Amino acid sequence: MTHTDTRRYLPPEDLVRNAHVSGRAAYDALVAEAEADPQGYWGRLAREFVSWKKPFTRVLDDSEAPFFKWFDDGTLNASYNCLDRNIERGLGRKTAIIFEADDGRVTRVTYAELLERVCRTANALKSLGVAKGDRVVIYLPMSIEGVVAMQACARIGAIHSVVFGGFSAQALRDRIADTGAVLVMTADQQVRGGKVLPLKTIVDEALALGGCERVRHVLVARRTGAPVPFQAPRDIWAPALVDAQPATCEPEWVEAEHPLFLLYTSGSTGKPKGVQHATGGYLLHAALTCQWTFDLKPEDVFWCTADIGWVTGHTYIAYGPLALGATQVVFEGVPTYPDAGRFWKMIEDHLVTVFYTAPTAIRSLIKAAEATPSVHPRRYDLSSLRILGSVGEPINPAAWTWYHEQVGGGRCPIVDTFWQTETGGHMITPLPGVTELVPGSCTLPFPGISAAVVDETGQELPWGQGGILVVKKPWPSMIRTIWGDPGRFKSSYFPEDFKGRYYLAGDGAVRDARTGYFTITGRIDDVLNVSGHRMGTMEIESALVACTELVAEAAVVGRADETTGEAICAFVVLKRPRPTGEEARKIAAELREWVAREIGPIAKPKDIRFGDNLPKTRSGKIMRRLLRSVAQGEAITQDTSTLENPAILAQLAERS
Ligand code: ATP
Ligand code: MG
Repeated sequence: MTHTDTRRYLPPEDLVRNAHVSGRAAYDALVAEAEADPQGYWGRLAREFVSWKKPFTRVLDDSEAPFFKWFDDGTLNASYNCLDRNIERGLGRKTAIIFEADDGRVTRVTYAELLERVCRTANALKSLGVAKGDRVVIYLPMSIEGVVAMQACARIGAIHSVVFGGFSAQALRDRIADTGAVLVMTADQQVRGGKVLPLKTIVDEALALGGCERVRHVLVARRTGAPVPFQAPRDIWAPALVDAQPATCEPEWVEAEHPLFLLYTSGSTGKPKGVQHATGGYLLHAALTCQWTFDLKPEDVFWCTADIGWVTGHTYIAYGPLALGATQVVFEGVPTYPDAGRFWKMIEDHLVTVFYTAPTAIRSLIKAAEATPSVHPRRYDLSSLRILGSVGEPINPAAWTWYHEQVGGGRCPIVDTFWQTETGGHMITPLPGVTELVPGSCTLPFPGISAAVVDETGQELPWGQGGILVVKKPWPSMIRTIWGDPGRFKSSYFPEDFKGRYYLAGDGAVRDARTGYFTITGRIDDVLNVSGHRMGTMEIESALVACTELVAEAAVVGRADETTGEAICAFVVLKRPRPTGEEARKIAAELREWVAREIGPIAKPKDIRFGDNLPKTRSGKIMRRLLRSVAQGEAITQDTSTLENPAILAQLAERS
């Protein structure tokens, strides 16, 4: 009883021939190498992909597990690896970033120019007394400055914590206070989707809320030039200070375990956690996965549409592509402005070859393309594309197929990359020159990642049986701790039930009985038990979304039910306006029958509600935990600080 596609897609032959990891035998050999000698494998790659100031002599120190240390007697600098090293290799005049602003204006910077900007900014931070180990909160728009800010912190060994520009003053305050930041980098305003939005005034509000007394300065970049409140000597204009700085800055050589950044998780399942990453291991996996998963070549134009406020924007914008000397697109705006053809137009204009986005964007662009033919991807020349990627949520087979056919022209492999803020980089993913693809499956572990599906006692389950996703061995880019809360780190990720050894991802998964391919079935809390049948919410959601004529998006949760234990409750966004009354009842009955045919009568949702949208985190993920309360008819008492559209909850609470 699984709703996965049975179609399979072979990697294109020319791609296989030229890929960094070429063919299944090459993949199997890497997996075998890592299995036989994990430390030898990671040590070899750490020497190949990262330049060390002082080479490490020890790969893994597990004496204080689960507080693992990697390459810990080596020293390096992440910014040196991403900038100076490329210039030393002759890439100084290569374009590092093609930046497209909300209004379509394009700015390009070369590696040499980027290094200079990073050095000046690093010197500016130093002139304000920021030193190695200090925390700096970055609250900037998507911009070259945003990437420069992160790299500048890395250059001087300061620990950055980027906060997404859509967060409220309260959410920003919580993160500034939790990190104990000494400085906040922000801009006067930001521009998204043709709208001007505040940044600096939100920083002022956040600091006024209290608990941020360690903040000495706010460094303010100019985006719109609009007048904003300014409080000297705390507030400092970035351009004046930065431009006056020397254009070079000796990197601070840090120990491999020195924290590179703190980043708060998106909050889909609870209060966000301040995830701490270490410099050496993280940088290795960022570079390695960029090269193998996206098969990045010198001539590629890579575009990851994530915001730098999320981990995807860290690993696959600020660090990974730069560590490889790649050219990438950075976009300030939103996919629907000036119209929902924006992504396709940008791919055409910049000749993007590798495109990486999220299912939430794909689903909304499908809906838009079906409503408005002029923004359909077929109307654009997307022939430059060779590889597509997906991240953030499971991608339903229906959305996968559309992405593959309509965007990729049926010729581009889709890498459905499963990973988390905590994992630093890809964990389970196809490799484009290796993996036969099955829509809806993230396929096989990245070489060296020992993913497995276990039961509640940590016992490995046979393929075909759904259970809990774990990683059995440590890997270099793993979370080091939760900032300020090592106890929560241990209990969240290395609980005793799993012998305290396995990393617990918090997601459910099942492996295909024949291929061993992984499919993510939803968060552990989202596994439903209906009359003794265990079902992942994902499976029912995919079945609903497979009704492509009607359904744009669906979220499924369980609620307590006296007779069946749990009952299935589905929240559905249609491709037509939200129905009410008789029409809603009629469509709900149709969808129930549809699910019964697709999966089986046991999976029929008891309750179907329609909304204009679903409650989502600001990174676009559906917040099922809030839907559980709505389904249960409870008042919402949980943390909603990361919720994008709070008004939708009231609408969904109405019964149709
Ligand atoms: P929180 O931990 O605060 O609840 P979050 O888990 O949403 O927030 P992230 O670290 O951004 O924060 O997201 C990681 C999660 O996203 C994974 O645990 C998984 O549930 C989901 N995810 C990411 N990529 C995929 C994918 N390719 N397929 C399925 N699920 C994915
Ligand atoms: Mg999580």
